[in-house]
Amino acid sequence: MTNKMQAAVVEAFGKPLAIVELDIPSPGAGQILVKTEACGVCHTDLHAAHGDWPLKPTPPFTPGHEGIGLVTEIGAGVTSVKVGDRVGVPWLYSACGHCEFCLSAQEPVCGEAEFGGYTKNGGFAEYIIADPDYVAHIPDGLSAIDAAPIICAGITTYKGIKETAAKPGQWIAISGCGGLGHLAIQYAKAMGLKVCAVDIDDSKLEHAKTNGADVVVNAKTEGDKTAEVVKQLTDGGAHGVLITAPSLPAFEQGVSMTRKHGTCVLVGLPPGEFPTPLFDVVANCITVRGSFVGNRKDMAEALAFAAEGKVKADIELQPLTAINDIFNRLEKGEVAARVVIDFSK
Ligand code: NAD
Ligand code: ZN
Ligand code: ZN
Repeated sequence: MTNKMQAAVVEAFGKPLAIVELDIPSPGAGQILVKTEACGVCHTDLHAAHGDWPLKPTPPFTPGHEGIGLVTEIGAGVTSVKVGDRVGVPWLYSACGHCEFCLSAQEPVCGEAEFGGYTKNGGFAEYIIADPDYVAHIPDGLSAIDAAPIICAGITTYKGIKETAAKPGQWIAISGCGGLGHLAIQYAKAMGLKVCAVDIDDSKLEHAKTNGADVVVNAKTEGDKTAEVVKQLTDGGAHGVLITAPSLPAFEQGVSMTRKHGTCVLVGLPPGEFPTPLFDVVANCITVRGSFVGNRKDMAEALAFAAEGKVKADIELQPLTAINDIFNRLEKGEVAARVVIDFSK
């Protein structure tokens, strides 16, 4: 084994990633080293590389928070994983474990949380340093490639659906049917919900139907009438709405398509703000809430759906060296569902 690894690094915001050779890091006390087998490419990685959000990572950094691999080395004092275990290094890289949020299983909002591929180097590299207490444990029978999209797109949408509080037999509207959305549709169907899928691209909507969507709406074709069309199709509005679209107009529409007393959950993260129709929200008793990945129990549950074959990401495999082309296509909406970087190539 050489002591060098390949990584795709953001050297400056808005610039193409550089494919570089870095020293393979060695795990300190309480850390582990993971040899990457696969890593999904999330739209969040694009926001990271663009420096889109108020809390910015510090270049140079290695994105990627859907990295799955085998533990090859453990640092002093590590007992919760062993060499050879298959783990995932997720967005929630670590948290303090002691604050009021950590104590109540709300660790994604811990004030001391670190984020994989953002404040810590992530999975666009052949090796990743991880915190053994926060890695995802990949169930037997689930391949590294199939597991990759589950540890961000999967957990985020599974948790987001739970946060809508929609019950079996009720309607959920899913706005944005890309990497997150195509899995959201499958989780929602597995959870007994009726699904109205919304996107601006007919090919995404065709795909949504094959993933189980009961009805689909093209927000580009319907324009200002989108929320009204969803309300008609769902007989008064969706009990739950999950907005995954990285696009501000989708947020205003999403609130408007929520049924009276329903909940609109925001998970898409385009930079900016959106206007909220205050009278409608108040007089219809609508809940609007954010949702940020999920806790470690949500992770285990989201992975169990995949291991049981109830959800399966549609995956396009690419080598690490294709990362800039993948980013360009993701930005233009040209990725059908999820790209996963295959490190066996
Ligand atoms: P993606 O690019 O794979 O999919 C986005 C989809 O939204 C595409 O199908 C696109 O056609 C569709 N879309 C664009 N504009 C739309 C509109 N106006 N109405 C309806 N659909 C529209 O992206 P992704 O990887 O699924 O990520 C989506 C967003 O979710 C990103 O902003 C990402 O940062 C965010 N995200 C948030 C969390 C969280 O914890 N809250 C976790 C992961 C990702
Ligand atoms: Zn993500
Ligand atoms: Zn904490």
